[in-house]
Amino acid sequence: MMRANRRTFLRMTGGAAGMVMLSQRPASAQAAPAGGLTVNPRKKTVPEPVVQQDTSLWKAQETAIIISDMWNEHWCKGATARVAELAPVMNKVLTIARDRGVTIIHAPSDCMKFYEDSPARKRIQSGYDDPGVRAILGGEKWCNSLPSEENAKWPIDQGDGGCDCDPKCKSGNPWKRQTEALVIDEEKDLITDSGIAIASYLKAKGITNVILMGVHLNMCVSGRPFGLRQQVRLGNNVVLMRDMTDTMYNSRKWPNVSHFRGTDRIIDHIEKYICPTITSSDFTGEPPFRFKDDTGNV
Ligand SMILES: [Zn+2]
Repeated sequence: MMRANRRTFLRMTGGAAGMVMLSQRPASAQAAPAGGLTVNPRKKTVPEPVVQQDTSLWKAQETAIIISDMWNEHWCKGATARVAELAPVMNKVLTIARDRGVTIIHAPSDCMKFYEDSPARKRIQSGYDDPGVRAILGGEKWCNSLPSEENAKWPIDQGDGGCDCDPKCKSGNPWKRQTEALVIDEEKDLITDSGIAIASYLKAKGITNVILMGVHLNMCVSGRPFGLRQQVRLGNNVVLMRDMTDTMYNSRKWPNVSHFRGTDRIIDHIEKYICPTITSSDFTGEPPFRFKDDTGNV
């Protein structure tokens, strides 16, 4: 049984006051002062899963969003359709965040060729290879488990690749670029799929707050060289935007829940063992995004 911890805190960054009681409800997106971001990170304790939701004030200049693998096409038709549904809402979040001064990093893995003439690509293509970062990441490496996850059971069976379609799709590598629905600001944004380049850039610019979004949560978003686990290992203040993501999970596999409750199970694992999560509401002021086919109870 899950209990909600009703306390909501304002965490004073660098202040001696520590944590100050603010209110019973998460602060709204409009409450932040100029240059500030009000976010409401949620995590869960273990072994007893108590939900803890805080309210934090972050500086926009010290914050980046990394968008993982929002490809134009996936080998799974269902996954491609869900990206197409998610992308316009994600673009709205990115527009608001960019306007507030957040750094936007597009990371469509394996698609750098498409962007070779892009100023946003060139901005981070060279000059960001920090030896300290390289040492922590162990090179351009995936991280498939943190010590904190060692005794946790992975909450879904994704052994079949996670295609939820009938008939099943044939796996392959059809992705060529990021979906066009996500606008790239060539004056401000960055394009790279390198974990070393991203972490080196963040370090050079003094950016310590990292928001991950995109797909797929149970694979790339968690494990890639720029993913959640490596951000934890780098010591960054990383959160997942939990309504701006999707999983590769076949609902005909264990634990035989709907596709969307499968995603929820991964979010639960992340909040317990990897890092806190926020929603797009912290930027848009609107209810969190839900896929149109997600009609079940959360
Ligand atoms: Zn499929």
